[in-house]
Amino acid sequence: MSAPSAASANTPTVKLLINGEFVESATTEWRDIVNPATQEVLARVPFATRAEIDAAVGAAHAAFAQWKTTPIGTRARIMLKYQALIREHMPRIAKILTAEQGKTLPDAEGDIFRGLEVVEHAASIGTLQLGEFAENVASGVDTYTLRQPIGVCAGITPFNFPAMIPLWMFPMAIVCGNTFVLKPSEQDPLSTMALVELAIEAGIPRGVLNVVHGGKEVVDALCTHETIKAVSFVGSTAVGTHVYNLASQHGKRVQSMMGAKNHAVVLPDANREQTLNALVGAGFGAAGQRCMATSAVVLVGQAREWLPDLIARSKTLKVNAGVEPNTDLGPVVSRTAKERIESLIAKGVEEGATLALDGRGVRVQGYEQGNFVGPTIFTGVTTEMTIYRTEIFGPVLVVLEVDTLDDAIALVNGNPFGNGVGLFTQSGAAARKFQSEIDIGQVGINIPIPVPVPFFSFTGSRGSKLGDLGPYGKQVVQFYTQTKTVTSRWFDDAASSAGGVNTTISLR
Ligand code: NAD
Repeated sequence: MSAPSAASANTPTVKLLINGEFVESATTEWRDIVNPATQEVLARVPFATRAEIDAAVGAAHAAFAQWKTTPIGTRARIMLKYQALIREHMPRIAKILTAEQGKTLPDAEGDIFRGLEVVEHAASIGTLQLGEFAENVASGVDTYTLRQPIGVCAGITPFNFPAMIPLWMFPMAIVCGNTFVLKPSEQDPLSTMALVELAIEAGIPRGVLNVVHGGKEVVDALCTHETIKAVSFVGSTAVGTHVYNLASQHGKRVQSMMGAKNHAVVLPDANREQTLNALVGAGFGAAGQRCMATSAVVLVGQAREWLPDLIARSKTLKVNAGVEPNTDLGPVVSRTAKERIESLIAKGVEEGATLALDGRGVRVQGYEQGNFVGPTIFTGVTTEMTIYRTEIFGPVLVVLEVDTLDDAIALVNGNPFGNGVGLFTQSGAAARKFQSEIDIGQVGINIPIPVPVPFFSFTGSRGSKLGDLGPYGKQVVQFYTQTKTVTSRWFDDAASSAGGVNTTISLR
């Protein structure tokens, strides 16, 4: 059954990519892609049928035989061409992204740029995929490792970074010699598809990259498909846990990057202006819909006196459609997301937190239908409250107060999530203690959103991640390859039979 649709006969449809062809789905189930600032229906996305999923996986499987032996230089040169194409088309794709997702145009360019950096890095695959070699591990015996691709890999992506996160996945998987089936977010697949078109233009061969669209059924089909060897997931904790469990049970390698509650710990010696700007930018940028957004501020000691300034600065942000110049916050992605955020704000009030800044009821002239929520700040928040325990994924900052750095570290370590954390201080000693004792996988020191650049890896931890290896960097080369260890001995023609039969486990 299709959802009720506001689309017309002229509304464009999003295509599947199967074996190098962009094809119309035969499905009867479609969903509207809606501009969150205007409610205009931009396109309709199909929920692929089982036959289409099988065709995509089958094409990827068939293409693997040849792609895995394609020289590294050939694979790298496709990525070099791809990064040039993305750079050239960035302004066009940013407009598509803002229309379907809502974030501001400069932030949409940032979304594409952070993905582009991964493609640039993928072009270095020659040095990234090197094996190891040890000579003379026994007399005349050498051991070396090969990093070989694993086969057909699948990627499942969220709505909040429709450019960056698909680009975390398929370029690195493919450049390692794998083939890929991508399942983009059904909420905003248009910018992802624009990037996929450029990947094909860059020379990715037929069948090496495939795209299917849909929701739970399609995801479950990928997680259980016997041909698929590895699944990369980025999205919410509930779905990521389901994907991790289901795909693992079906014998796949899985990495799940999931939800978060990212704290910013502020010491009173921090640079006040820089810190306040960082908190406001990281808390409310992208309308709080970043997995690494600052969502909990911990004011230590006298830093609690900065609260009025934090509230005043947050009030200056401009809420408007993402296409309008000088906008700080666009709309949230959907009406459902807006309702969810507003119900969590109501819950915060009900549970006794102080609503110091209320972003509900924002009206934006010319965009009266937009899903806007303005900057919202709660003070007097305690760790039992729903607004502290839940990822709100909207422009809502919760503020907690503690007396010492030790108290702050204990508070952050007590939260189940582990994506990112920031410390604001001018003290090297405090920073060193913090980075050592904090149990969060990505730490920023006077950096509010410490998302690593692609020569490192994304290293969220604890409740924000399942699986050992993160996206991009060296870790993802390990994820998308398997190690084969070869131990070899070559005999000279003149070698004698000295040594005789060896019935022990020792190499001689
Ligand atoms: P989501 O979990 O709702 O959706 C992610 C993907 O899973 C989509 O492709 C969707 O179609 C699919 N999906 C949805 N429901 C499903 C179900 N029941 N069974 C199987 N598949 C299903 O996430 P979202 O709302 O698109 O994205 C926001 C979330 O992603 C936030 O929680 C955010 O923190 C998280 N996120 C995490 C990171 C990270 O690196 N840790 C990065 C970006 C976003």
